[in-house]
Amino acid sequence: MTKKYIFANWKMNPTSFEEARHLLSQYENFGRPENLEIVVCPPVIDLVPLQQSSKHAIEWGAQNCSWEKSGAYTGEISPSMLRERGVGFVIVGHSERRQNFGETDESVNRKVRLLLAMGLSPVICVGGGANLKEESKKIETTVAAQVESAFSGVQASTVKSGKVFIAYEPVWAIGTGKAASVQHASDIAEVIRKTLEKKYDTETAQSVALLYGGSVTSENGDKFLKRTILSGFIIGGLSLNPTELGILIKKIEKL
Ligand code: PEP
Repeated sequence: MTKKYIFANWKMNPTSFEEARHLLSQYENFGRPENLEIVVCPPVIDLVPLQQSSKHAIEWGAQNCSWEKSGAYTGEISPSMLRERGVGFVIVGHSERRQNFGETDESVNRKVRLLLAMGLSPVICVGGGANLKEESKKIETTVAAQVESAFSGVQASTVKSGKVFIAYEPVWAIGTGKAASVQHASDIAEVIRKTLEKKYDTETAQSVALLYGGSVTSENGDKFLKRTILSGFIIGGLSLNPTELGILIKKIEKL
């Protein structure tokens, strides 16, 4: 039974701590499914108080981090701060950060290298154009280039000894209600694996867990995990709807 993963990306939600605590309390109903790891990625301001208010063992993730360990970087949060506060996973290069906050392939690479050096798991987001037509012409090359760049200067042994995730998140599917087809997500996952195989070797490539993200629902979610090399998801909208998320979790538990 291969382990599945759900990264619950709450983004900049909910806006009050009271609501965040309420949302987390509903996650506690999910228990600890044997074949599934649920990683909660709340706004960073809520991380520590949520940890303190939670009675359950929960895996924590951050939505971003600095590429430096410490120093004069106003407004930034370093991987060492996150690690010290029990965060094991960090989403890097989300398209919303690439589009709105100047995240580049180069900054993604710096973050990936630092996270791996610090023993944290990067969840690297890659994706393409703003719509399927624009994307379909060049998505394979775009994704391969993003993967190449994210791992620039990273040794195979470092990849294998860490737990690394790559999420294919087509921009046109994020928050739009228009998920990619299982075939498309699976094809791009194969492209990612082949890119890693070419750069490293089969064993290293297989050590990287591949995810899909973009309008995953309780209806479509489990289909991405059947007969594909995908190991799970990043979820945005669904992460704020614990009732629907609970339905998907039950389906994944039966896979
Ligand atoms: C995301 O933001 O990473 C995401 C997958 O969002 P949504 O599930 O809302 O499409």
